[in-house]
Amino acid sequence: MRKPVIAGNWKMYKTVGESVDTALALKPLVANANHCEVIIAPVFTSLKVVADRLEGSNVRVSGQNCSTEVEEGAHTGEVAAFMLRDAGASYVIVGHSERRQFYSETDAMVRRKCQAAISAGLTVIMCVGETLDQRELGNAKNVVRGQLNGGLSGLTALDLDRIIVAYEPVWAIGTGRTATPEQAQEMHAFIRRVFAEGHTATAAEALRILYGGSVKPENISGLMVQGDIDGALVGGASLKAESFAKIVNYKDE
Ligand code: PEP
Repeated sequence: MRKPVIAGNWKMYKTVGESVDTALALKPLVANANHCEVIIAPVFTSLKVVADRLEGSNVRVSGQNCSTEVEEGAHTGEVAAFMLRDAGASYVIVGHSERRQFYSETDAMVRRKCQAAISAGLTVIMCVGETLDQRELGNAKNVVRGQLNGGLSGLTALDLDRIIVAYEPVWAIGTGRTATPEQAQEMHAFIRRVFAEGHTATAAEALRILYGGSVKPENISGLMVQGDIDGALVGGASLKAESFAKIVNYKDE
């Protein structure tokens, strides 16, 4: 059985104080959520204090990005994966579409980030997803296949245990336009097939594939009943503890 994952991506929102307040408000609201892994990804500056304040709870902390470089060094503005681990993170989001679109992140960079994160002991949430143009041209699956193979090539069977894939169609992120559960399921099943081709059927069966793109308390249940949807990566609706908790507690809604 794949344990579901519900992860909140706080993007570039919240000061340190606001991050702590939201994390502390979330903690009791999800304390009984044993059915899934609960993750929040604050900005770098808030990560350590949020992780410290959540110690002993069932909420884990993630970075939103990490350097391609494994070792410390002269890389101004970068944060190494091992530094995220040192600050209390257990996960890191890699290859988010905002990084691919606005910071020119390539599949080769995503691959190096995945490798750096795994070697630091983090679990990677690797994002893939097509733009609206790519979908309308009938290229969605080719794009996703390329991103999956480009980001994950060269990983060992052991490394694959530390990979979670998030399918986030770019046209659904922050737009209020969610993929239908059926559209998402179709792509998730495809991702699992591609993963099986590139690795093994067993690894593909164990792979958690999250859906991301305008997930809200109102649409999470319809997504979670799909056979290949193993959780959600949530942006906007994760910024308020109450709405994120409703998504985490989708079974009770
Ligand atoms: C995201 O940032 O990963 C995301 C899915 O955002 P939103 O939920 O706001 O669409």
